[in-house]
Amino acid sequence: QFPFGRRLPCDIYWHGVSFHDNNIFSGQVNKFPGMMETVRKITLSRAMRTMQDLFPLEYNFYPRSWILPEELPLFVAEFRVMKDSNPSWKPTFIVKPDGGCQGDGIYLIKDPSDIRLTGSIQSRPAVVQEYICKPLLMDKLKFDIRLYVLLKSLEPLEIYIAKDGLSRFCTQPYQEPTLKNLHQVFMHLTNYSLNIHSGNFIHSDSVNTGSKRTFSSILCRLSSRGADVKKLWSDIISLVIKTIIALTPELKVYYQSDIPAGKPGPTCFQILGFDILLMKNLKPMLLEVNANPSMRIEHEQELSPGVFENVPSPVDEEVKVAVIRDTLRLVDPQKKKRKDTQVTVPPQQQWFGVQEHPGLWDLSPWRGWMGGALRSFQADPSAVLCCRCQSLEPAPGASEELPDAPPSPEAALPSLCLKQVFPKYAKQFSYLRLVDRVAALFIRFLGVKGTTKLGPTGFRTFIRNCKLSNSNFSMAAVDILYIDITRRWNSMGIDHKESGMCLQAFVEAFFCLAQKKYKSLPLHEQVESLIDFCECRLAALRDKRLVWGCG
Ligand code: ADP
Repeated sequence: QFPFGRRLPCDIYWHGVSFHDNNIFSGQVNKFPGMMETVRKITLSRAMRTMQDLFPLEYNFYPRSWILPEELPLFVAEFRVMKDSNPSWKPTFIVKPDGGCQGDGIYLIKDPSDIRLTGSIQSRPAVVQEYICKPLLMDKLKFDIRLYVLLKSLEPLEIYIAKDGLSRFCTQPYQEPTLKNLHQVFMHLTNYSLNIHSGNFIHSDSVNTGSKRTFSSILCRLSSRGADVKKLWSDIISLVIKTIIALTPELKVYYQSDIPAGKPGPTCFQILGFDILLMKNLKPMLLEVNANPSMRIEHEQELSPGVFENVPSPVDEEVKVAVIRDTLRLVDPQKKKRKDTQVTVPPQQQWFGVQEHPGLWDLSPWRGWMGGALRSFQADPSAVLCCRCQSLEPAPGASEELPDAPPSPEAALPSLCLKQVFPKYAKQFSYLRLVDRVAALFIRFLGVKGTTKLGPTGFRTFIRNCKLSNSNFSMAAVDILYIDITRRWNSMGIDHKESGMCLQAFVEAFFCLAQKKYKSLPLHEQVESLIDFCECRLAALRDKRLVWGCG
């Protein structure tokens, strides 16, 4: 930890909350710029909506959501239409404040008129979402799953999923929502931070009982009941990949702004927490993505009235230590080198130069060290933890093939808990990456490095270079389109720091142009055709410029 700043560059930088240091020119940072903003409830809902518009079937794992206050009229209108067509329909909705966490400010409603409009909605926008009324229950209790996902790289996209996660249980038996039980948080909300205050919360030393268990213990129970656990895993993998595909366009805009291409800078990776609810029919539904999932491996215990002590939590330790350990193994800059040269390491040599670690080959002290590092890190989340890997070059004169050479560090560790799912399944999912391609066009025309918004000139250049204006769509109409959409997005008050057109506004404009140009096709084909068209025009323009350059 470097409370007073750091002098030497490091291999790995471990930031507590978010990417916040623009003075890093090499190595790897454990946070992506803009991730916090990208996974906020409203931004996530918008990104999922865009994907649902393009691919409704593929993205039906995210509950229908509306953004408040701006979409309140739309929510009311859609509610009325549904109710009129089916008077016996008795839905429930959940209102979640944007940027909230740990169940803060969340409430359930039966009717749009129950939305609490006074004060907070104006100052703190929210998402209203279909409530999943029939979750899978275990021991009559509702529970959700926290899965850890490593986004190892954005370009090329590399995603890993931890083989085990946590299941967090409610503490009051579940009943489908009625006006009488809507307010019972211990029945409807699975948040650990809420249920810990219930008298029914059970801390267990076992990973398969109590109010927090491992996900693998749930899978075992399901499997013993004859459930198709393989299919469930494959649905979860698909949910994770599709969600990341929905988030990458926005992340790429932030990335190029903070770490401009062609300039020295770090690469990034990030551990994300996916909150997933299983429906009664075992369909996984995404609730939210956490940019900064809790890595606590202890919980508070009241020893005597008012006296608390932190005690280890075996379930958390089992899952989280493995996630961090294996993240470090995957991003270890020396790993590739080791693989390439097959160099063996003298046992006395440390892997991470953080502290003396004589028992590196034994897993238990390594776990202990991780636990200690995590604990001190939790005490000051703003701290920066850096790891400087020692060179693993053999000592001068040392043979690379000593017969009694110790095993490599990898050999002593358990098999990786993180499973690569992308690019492994890239073929199956790449057709969904349309908005990514729209974002690439957007970034190309941003012009000045360091911005995240497109100015009117950039938008005009995009239209001109792609030859999208014609007698039916004049440059004056282009300007009107730009002004209309940009003004509306900026009035939604998402980011006032910069003026101009944000990515989502550009995506809306792009969809508009695609609909104009390819009227008869379904939306995703319209968009794909326009992307192909633009990419083709830009490639031709580049070739032409090359020829002129040579000439
Ligand atoms: P927070 O970030 O405040 O924890 P979440 O979106 O995770 O907000 O919601 C809190 C809890 O509410 C979830 O853990 C889950 O138990 C419940 N919940 C959230 N959305 C839904 C939903 N659409 N249907 C059913 N339960 C939900």
